Amino acid sequence: MGKIHVLSEIVANKIAAGEVVERPASVVKELLENSLDAGATRIRINVEAGGKRLIQITDNGCGMVRDDAMLAFERHATSKIKDAEDLLSVATLGFRGEALPSIASVSRLRLETRAADEAGGTVVEINGGKMARVEEAGLPAGTSITVRDLFFNTPARKKFLKSESTELSHIASLVTHYALAHPEKHFELHSATNAMLVAPAVSGHSERVYQVFGKEVLDQLIAVAATQPLEHGGLAQAPPWRRAEVEDADGGRGRPPHTEPGEMRVSGFVSKPEIQKLNRNSIFVFVNGRLIRDRLVQHGLTEAYRNIIPPTVYPVVLLFLELPAEEVDVNVHPSKTEVRFRQQSVMHDFVRDSVRAALMKARPVPQFVTEIRARATAGEALTPGAMTPELESALGTASEAPLLAENAKNGVPYFLLQEASAVGFALQAPAVPPVSARFQFEGGIAVEANAGIPIARGLEQIPDNGCAPALEVREEEPTLSSLATLRPLGQIRNSFILAVNEDGLWIIDQHVAHERVLFERVLKQRSAQKVESQRLLMPIIVELSPAQQAVFTEISDELQYNGFEVEAFGARSVAVKVAPAGVDAGAVEHMLHELLELISREEQSLNLEKIRARIAASIACHAAIKVNMPLEQNKMEWLLAELAKTDHPMSCPHGRPVVLRYSVKDIQKAFKRI
Ligand code: ADP
Ligand code: MG
Repeated sequence: MGKIHVLSEIVANKIAAGEVVERPASVVKELLENSLDAGATRIRINVEAGGKRLIQITDNGCGMVRDDAMLAFERHATSKIKDAEDLLSVATLGFRGEALPSIASVSRLRLETRAADEAGGTVVEINGGKMARVEEAGLPAGTSITVRDLFFNTPARKKFLKSESTELSHIASLVTHYALAHPEKHFELHSATNAMLVAPAVSGHSERVYQVFGKEVLDQLIAVAATQPLEHGGLAQAPPWRRAEVEDADGGRGRPPHTEPGEMRVSGFVSKPEIQKLNRNSIFVFVNGRLIRDRLVQHGLTEAYRNIIPPTVYPVVLLFLELPAEEVDVNVHPSKTEVRFRQQSVMHDFVRDSVRAALMKARPVPQFVTEIRARATAGEALTPGAMTPELESALGTASEAPLLAENAKNGVPYFLLQEASAVGFALQAPAVPPVSARFQFEGGIAVEANAGIPIARGLEQIPDNGCAPALEVREEEPTLSSLATLRPLGQIRNSFILAVNEDGLWIIDQHVAHERVLFERVLKQRSAQKVESQRLLMPIIVELSPAQQAVFTEISDELQYNGFEVEAFGARSVAVKVAPAGVDAGAVEHMLHELLELISREEQSLNLEKIRARIAASIACHAAIKVNMPLEQNKMEWLLAELAKTDHPMSCPHGRPVVLRYSVKDIQKAFKRI
């Protein structure tokens, strides 16, 4: 007798569950996606014990008729695709027909559902994959699925679950991000004791961000919106048995010839440069409504932020990409957290250019408050236990989400607080959806409700007794174009320039400001092939380690184009005869060492553009005015004028902020005028 046998349905489902159901949050993800696919506009989620004891999702979607309600638990039963060809253009979030049977095989599941046009509904109960009850019942239209005791029959899996609060935070992060992706729908998430998220339908993404995170967070973000027509359709491969037929029809493109290629759209938010995260956990990318993790998009984002933030940190990103369903292959991962774009480089460049353009356009100015908060994130990264990288990035970090409610309430960006609050956070009372009302104060100053800055929080409003006449305040955010109007007042400790204009009080770090000016200048001169240089009185001999020598050989041409003249000098040294203008002879050796060291440590392969940026940054750093250097009035004026002309005056090539602004509004607040 042979040794091979077919596994029973129950065992097969348990195996599939291993791929689809990793933890409570993955159950929530699957059920949430089903509700969205069912066209629900209201979705309510209840969880207990971090989802380990109970997960319940109730929606007002299309519901199921009795037969479907039972069929839904058969493996590979789906209403979303019919044949393999449909896989080429999946328009729903689900399509594998694996989630419900998988979840039902590792929990006690109860389904209550009624299709809108049916008189009665159906209740189905399944325990550990075994159908226990099917009954008719009077039910509201829509579907409610209750999952109890997840992994009760797979103790090994159960052991791998994290603490209740960690699992709950994953769920909260997931639900929040789906809520952000679907602002037109009503989402609620309740734990046993708290309403963690209550988000009624709003009109767009920014309203949703405001609703969920508050104004402060919205202020830290720059909106991205772009559309680009596709030049041609991607090369979707028809299934092999249909390929010849399809190719006959359209000359090999894999789609009927009459189909328009369509367009790509991107919308969402990216953070201003002063927000710097230590990992990618705050990057959320949705492709056609699906939360995914994608290296290509990730790389596009890194490119967009090049020379704006340091290469070692990450922005906060919430990006929604929409493209024709045929342009994305969603069938590459059991948990559907990865996709493959048919036109990879087009997609990559589209993301990079759209985000870059948004960043360039905004030229945002760091605020004082921002700076204080932003620095807090530079501490040790939060280590959210041993999560798989996929889940971690698909779902967000462990400890940020439960802070949502509290932080929306306090007006403090939740992602700015994550490290500070990593230890021992407590789940908080429901976030009251912010109401944007304008209050009129006696002095005639209108302020936006919910616009309070954290430092002023909790302090009583001091009534205007007539001794503080009102100031005119411009409402719009100044961009760094207003740098051109700055009037320098003096220096603090010969290092920071103090300046004023109509927008408020500004502090400029003289070294990084000059660094930014020089960096852009060197890059420009380099592309025009005329970087200024100076002949040194005496050649400077620099000893190089073997690793440095290797890098030196690789970049010596580029060094020459950047104003260096360097010759080999003995076996292990080089002689620098000419150096870029502005770099002190005494700094040349240090600079060269630093540069070679930096490039040799670079993990990714270096392209010419990156090498040029590194060299320019290094020249700029060493040629720039130092701190502790007194500057005359005209020097300060010159520096500010030059800074105003740069493309990216907001951060130095290494990503540090160049200017801080204390806005008139902040000043008024501090003086209790508003
Ligand atoms: P898939 O989503 O890949 O189709 P699932 O196992 O998640 O597979 O669901 C099986 C089927 O059950 C779906 O195709 C859908 O027809 C039905 N279904 C699941 N959840 C819902 C829901 N909330 N509302 C209506 N129908 C649902
Ligand atoms: Mg599904």
